[in-house]
Amino acid sequence: MRRFLVAGNWKMNTTKESGAQLAQALASEVPSENPAVEVLVCPPFPYLTTIGDIVTGSGVGYGAQNCYHEAPGAFTGETATEMLTDIGCRSVILGHSERRHVLKETDADINLKVKKALEAGLQVILCVGELQSERESDQTEAVLNTQMTGGLAGVDGAAFGQIVIAYEPVWAIGTGLTASPEQAEAAHLYLRNWLKDQYSAEIADATRILYGGSVKPDNAKELLSQENVDGALVGGASLKAELFIPIIQAAV
Ligand code: 13P
Repeated sequence: MRRFLVAGNWKMNTTKESGAQLAQALASEVPSENPAVEVLVCPPFPYLTTIGDIVTGSGVGYGAQNCYHEAPGAFTGETATEMLTDIGCRSVILGHSERRHVLKETDADINLKVKKALEAGLQVILCVGELQSERESDQTEAVLNTQMTGGLAGVDGAAFGQIVIAYEPVWAIGTGLTASPEQAEAAHLYLRNWLKDQYSAEIADATRILYGGSVKPDNAKELLSQENVDGALVGGASLKAELFIPIIQAAV
């Protein structure tokens, strides 16, 4: 009953030209009626409108990689949710591990953004995941609990139609190390049970939980066939149509 979602997080990559070519290739390959899989690309801010114009009308949606929690005003360098909806952008990635660990965003920062993005009607892809040291010291579930509790504080169950969770073990991001299907499934099951305990069985059942961390064409099928894995958040392999398209197809 949960529709797969395969999202490409382009991070701080591409040029205007290479991003446009990639978007064109995806838009021509992904049918506009694609009931089994929702497909999304999240380009860097300067290219959002260009990419958005290219994919509009195709089966590919577009989202942002971040936003700010305040209404438009004197916040130099930030991007308001109002600006995202203004250009037709319907999704935003929040709490990505690079924002947590490189840009030092806290769960409280992320929570403000989550609430603002939900109010704006955006689909929120909330990323959670443990560091290698946390996994090795058996802290994975405790970390996921903290990040879910902090990120979703004050979020009403009614908002869950707009929320997607992405489990991204930090040690698997950009490293070529992938969580085994069993490790991914165990974390996803923990997250689904968390949603059941904190919200309801209906919300837990309906909410999509994506896996991210070195997803490639050759491991996508096995990861996506796990019962509680409802799609993928793809970094490096989303930058090449010949890698991203087979990952989308693996979800079908
Ligand atoms: P990689 O697929 O490059 O490991 O990146 C995963 C990721 O961070 C997606 O948000």
